[in-house]
Amino acid sequence: MNHSIKNVLIVGGGSSGWMAAAVLARFFSKQIQIQLVESSEIGTVGVGEATIPPIRTFNDVLGIKEADFLKQTMGTIKLGIQFENWSQPGDSYMHAFGEIGRNLGIAGFHHYWLKARQAGVAEDFWRYSLNEQAARHNRFAPMETIPGTQFPGLTHAYHLDAGLYAQMLRAYSEKLGVKRIDGKIQTVDKDSESGDIAAVQLESGERLEADLFIDCSGFRALLIGEALDVDFEDWSHWLPCDRALAVPSEAAETITPYTRAIAHEGGWQWRIPLQHRTGNGLVYSHRHLSDDEATHTLLSNLDTPALADPRPIRFKTGRRVQQWCQNVVSLGLSSGFLEPLESTSLHLVQQGLTRLIKLFPRNGIQPSDIEEYNRQSQIEFEKIRDFIILHYHLNSKTDSPFWRMCREAPKPESLLRRIDLFAGSGRVFREQDELFSETAWEQVMIGQGITPQDYHPLVDNLEDHQLREFMNSWQRIVDKTVAQMPSHNDFIASLK
Ligand SMILES: Cc1cc2nc3c(=O)[nH]c(=O)nc-3n(C[C@H](O)[C@H](O)[C@H](O)COP(=O)(O)OP(=O)(O)OC[C@H]3O[C@@H](n4cnc5c(N)ncnc54)[C@H](O)[C@@H]3O)c2cc1C
Repeated sequence: MNHSIKNVLIVGGGSSGWMAAAVLARFFSKQIQIQLVESSEIGTVGVGEATIPPIRTFNDVLGIKEADFLKQTMGTIKLGIQFENWSQPGDSYMHAFGEIGRNLGIAGFHHYWLKARQAGVAEDFWRYSLNEQAARHNRFAPMETIPGTQFPGLTHAYHLDAGLYAQMLRAYSEKLGVKRIDGKIQTVDKDSESGDIAAVQLESGERLEADLFIDCSGFRALLIGEALDVDFEDWSHWLPCDRALAVPSEAAETITPYTRAIAHEGGWQWRIPLQHRTGNGLVYSHRHLSDDEATHTLLSNLDTPALADPRPIRFKTGRRVQQWCQNVVSLGLSSGFLEPLESTSLHLVQQGLTRLIKLFPRNGIQPSDIEEYNRQSQIEFEKIRDFIILHYHLNSKTDSPFWRMCREAPKPESLLRRIDLFAGSGRVFREQDELFSETAWEQVMIGQGITPQDYHPLVDNLEDHQLREFMNSWQRIVDKTVAQMPSHNDFIASLK
């Protein structure tokens, strides 16, 4: 294609479709006509309610204020994810957002903690995490409201009602001129010469043409999968869960500012607290847990009474080998899926959109732009994949075929290299622009049972008494700051 893009058609009105509409309208509404087609008869996947901190940048770019966002999506604050029973039954640790303690020069805080721990002068690793301590005490406050604190801010994300979020983004997009069409796509027409998608044909007979198509059609992958036949790289040998049940339950009295991920036989359960309800679900491998057993496990482990029957969802973990092909960019479930253990899917939509805006063609779609988009997407998906596998791999449960298989099945080399490095000398490196920080990797590796054999030699520059004082002072700073925060419930109530 060697002409500029005048029309974009977004296919699908789930979270990814409306995120795409909002961002494209925010940047290009003056130059491009943007349409979105969705089928209210088909509906959306209806899950995807836990996020990670970069979502705040997404909202900032759109000019959405935190208080408005939380009110409109019945949202709550998320400071991390509490993993329960993952390494051994009864274990619990948090992947808390933000830093833990303070790095001294080149050596990360955890090296100091490792030595202090050996010397018996350190507490649990998370005792030095502002996020974890605030979460444990159900507290939250914007940092500017805490006098005299040494912290720049709490690194937080949100829990949100996905349906309300889509509604909010729809209103935003329509205000900027996005045209919504409710209709079911029956056929997809291709240009026989270029191989590009030319138009989609609706059941009503309406034909929608565009220069660029954004495939947000969910697991159906109408354009990227069905019409363009782009291969799906299956990762289920590494991440064997393939089904989920989702059920809302009544809101809890105490709204905890963190997600819970509770390991069970054959899978794990999520618990996402919102203002008006709690989102729950069980992610499982159908080869290890029957649907009936899964339903029983989920319903017998709810904290509050269920508000509906569990809804089944089937999925396959993996990714499209080309997420941008011809004149189709796929986003959301059509582009691939990594199970929701670390709440990364909406983030991947956000990243896809950022990449698309950066590579947006001015005068025709260049193959080199497509190649770069696909190269970056592949790296991003693979790094997140390894982080998720890590949780399954490092378990020491002996009485469960599912968990034994997760531990013993072959793993990507890239992951095994990281584990070896950390187990030997406590070192971990964030690679390129990968999402998860060193602190995130440290928490999951320590939480899942690795104690590195050594720490960085720079730590020995501190005298024993200095090391003890360093650890104690961080604990005092964290305690003092958390003590000044209101409860999370009070923070949410203050928004009304
Ligand atoms: C069990 C589970 C839990 C998850 N939890 C999280 C989480 O905690 N955090 C997170 O970030 N993500 C999570 N996700 C992922 C998240 O739900 C999705 O990334 C997100 O909802 C985006 O979905 P989507 O918009 O791509 O697809 P969908 O929501 O499925 O939307 C597809 C759209 O395409 C339309 N469509 C399809 N076919 C046609 C047709 N023929 N004609 C017209 N329209 C059509 C549909 O009507 C719909 O509007 C989870 C996913 C699953 C499966």
